[in-house]
Amino acid sequence: MNSTANERTVDEHDVDPVAAALSLLLDAHRDDTSGALADYIPELATVDPDGFGIALTSVHGRTAHAGDARTPFTIQSVSKPFVYALAACELGIDEVARHVGFEPSGEPFNAISLDAATGRPANPLINAGAIVTSALVGGGDAEERFDRVRAFLSACAGRDLDVDEAVYASEDATGDRNRALAHLARSAGVLRQPVDDATEVYFRQCSLVVTTEDLSVMAATLANGGVNPVTEATVMSERVATVTLAIMTTCGMYDHSGAWMARVGLPAKSGVGGGIVAVNPSQFGIGVYSPRLDEYGNSIRGSDVLQSLSERFELHVFDHPDRPRSPIVRADDHTGEHGDELTLVVRGELDLISAEEVVAFLREWAATRTAGTIHVDASGVSRVREVARRLLTATIERLRATGFAVTIDGTV
Ligand code: GLN
Repeated sequence: MNSTANERTVDEHDVDPVAAALSLLLDAHRDDTSGALADYIPELATVDPDGFGIALTSVHGRTAHAGDARTPFTIQSVSKPFVYALAACELGIDEVARHVGFEPSGEPFNAISLDAATGRPANPLINAGAIVTSALVGGGDAEERFDRVRAFLSACAGRDLDVDEAVYASEDATGDRNRALAHLARSAGVLRQPVDDATEVYFRQCSLVVTTEDLSVMAATLANGGVNPVTEATVMSERVATVTLAIMTTCGMYDHSGAWMARVGLPAKSGVGGGIVAVNPSQFGIGVYSPRLDEYGNSIRGSDVLQSLSERFELHVFDHPDRPRSPIVRADDHTGEHGDELTLVVRGELDLISAEEVVAFLREWAATRTAGTIHVDASGVSRVREVARRLLTATIERLRATGFAVTIDGTV
């Protein structure tokens, strides 16, 4: 190294390498001005078309960002998976499923997509399904129900979100197609509120103002099993977060969802305001913003940046890890005064496959002996899934019944 410490600039010391990488990604796509602003909601056509930002929040709660990550814009359809999560928390996944399905529609976001037999919209991420879903939230009037929606999305973002009244008025004034969808759902018996109440809450939810940073924290809340990793508040159950991500995986990018999962491989949700959230489960959430849209209503540069990010950083959810993680960190095998002894140190989360690894190890060790002492040190185990508990308990009981002494540190 030629440079000495005092030759370096302050910036070099401060540079966050993740933010720097995000900034390079924006640079690679900055000059693409293809696509158009959504203008069917006139107020959306008034935004600066060049806004371009990205933010990534890890499940550890740290956010890196680049570009216009603090530019406000309306959340639009990115609200839909979060309102689905709220309805599922309030009513349960099965009750929500009586009103709206889980299937990709393969159609545009504003399609008339109601099942011929049940009247249910195909999924909660197309407009028909989102209107039905937000009408399930709460039990009071439209104001009470919207307050719940706002409070829930704010908890996901970790700050209080407000409505852009001009966008709301614009959506309301031009929302006849959404009202028509609501009327159809109402006549099929799946819309729980009068049409005007339902669309009022839906238009308001779409008009909530967020930044790219907010979106990354909201996405990270889904990545983190429903716990906002910045505020540490539990916003939804793990099960609801899982199901929400499943729906985003199959339906999040409308009739482009299949190609999206093949190429980018991150559950995502776009909005006509130009925002997209993407999630790598258990790892991080991302928000991107660029308001020029393609023919599907997805942000063009936002989609491209996410595809580059996924390729360059190798983030596809179905990528294969180097080798399977083993929960066994140490196995000491020796002969003591009471015969053969084994000390097995296990760590981390015990799920089906990691418990199977422990069980196989114990059975193999015992197979060549008629007696011995086994000490399992599970003090570093973070969580034991029910299936793992059952496998381990059954194996330990069997070992004891066949003449082995087994002691356990910690709980399995
Ligand atoms: N508020 C918009 C609408 O209902 C949301 C659509 C979207 O973001 N795809 O048309």
